[in-house]
Amino acid sequence: MSRDVALLEVLRARLDALSQQHLIRQRRAVESACGPQLMIDGRPLSAFCSNDYLGLAGDARIAEALAEGASRYGTGSGASHLISGHSAAHALLEETLAAIMSPHLARCRALYLSSGYIANLAVIAALADKQSEIFSEELNHASLIDGARLSRAKISVYPHSDLDTLAKLLAASTAQNKLVVTDSVFSMDGDIAPLPGLLALCEQYGAWLIVDDAHGFGVLGEQGRGALEHFALHSSQIVLIGTLSKAAGVAGAFVAAHETVIEWLVQRARPYVYSTASPPALAHALLTSLKIIAGDEGRQRRQALAARIAQWQQAMTLSRWQPLRSSTAIQPVIIGDNEATMVAGRALHERGYWVGSVRPPTVPKGTSRLRVTLSAAHTEVQLDGLMAAIADIER
Ligand SMILES: *Cc1c(COP(=O)(O)O)cnc(C)c1O
Repeated sequence: MSRDVALLEVLRARLDALSQQHLIRQRRAVESACGPQLMIDGRPLSAFCSNDYLGLAGDARIAEALAEGASRYGTGSGASHLISGHSAAHALLEETLAAIMSPHLARCRALYLSSGYIANLAVIAALADKQSEIFSEELNHASLIDGARLSRAKISVYPHSDLDTLAKLLAASTAQNKLVVTDSVFSMDGDIAPLPGLLALCEQYGAWLIVDDAHGFGVLGEQGRGALEHFALHSSQIVLIGTLSKAAGVAGAFVAAHETVIEWLVQRARPYVYSTASPPALAHALLTSLKIIAGDEGRQRRQALAARIAQWQQAMTLSRWQPLRSSTAIQPVIIGDNEATMVAGRALHERGYWVGSVRPPTVPKGTSRLRVTLSAAHTEVQLDGLMAAIADIER
């Protein structure tokens, strides 16, 4: 066998192994804008799988702002932020985000990055080094795990929402620089981290609290400022990452923290420094999105979402499968087996519903699940239809 054929054989064998475990994942090409109805192969599907919690990803006003931004600033930024890629739109977006988050963070400044994944790598690898210790929540998002690995710090994983174990780990640590790292809303379970307890421990032990608010920003809190508003927290030790690709309906992410933290990131966060600035038009479009989120319409959309969550919590009962009935837009139904989860996902698809079928390594082995995500854009009738379909398929 020639060498290149041998290399490909290794990959084919690995793909075959995935296939046998029902772990092959497939993409579907969506032909319409993100929304409660998606067009695939010319056929409409009722979609409960996006993270577009407020129904803004397909909003015409934001699309118009994006077009306006493109006509003003062009398509590409041309360079990294520290060379010539930092536009007036990026600067205004950062000022706006800092003002939004300032009730919760002392001397708040914000930094816009091209994605939540990049933001998490940037923050953790810039704040932790070989001499540091990272206390990482068991159910953290992959990007937080990868950021911790990139930093080369010592990593101690604490069990899900277990403050007692975390306290013991912090007490036993000899590291000078400590970081507690957590999702705010857990992306696959939908529950909320005990942030007040985590912050108290961080204050007691002099640790940073890194909060990934990907599923909280725009959704939680009266004004949609996210998990910190939800718990009415204020601190100079919190570093908050909010994604702007989910509830905000556009793309990118921000870090909000004390101005000294942000200045350090600007100088030294490699995923920020060594990457071309994202198109200024995106930052321009986000100004419109943030205005909607903070205003009356944002509040109405959060209320509409809350009504769908309540509807699910009250009505989604099953006999074998286990709905977790979280208090957020993320509503998993645990099935367990990979193949059974795939079969359920396909059966829903046949009935015109698109729900995420999530398997390892995204979730722990034996906990494969349907991941239903609710949006302000879903109607009561639409959700009733989905719940009836899930109950029917379980039987
Ligand atoms: C989606 C997600 C990210 C990544 O954000 P992107 O903007 O999609 O790169 C980070 N953390 C969590 C918890 C997420 O769910």
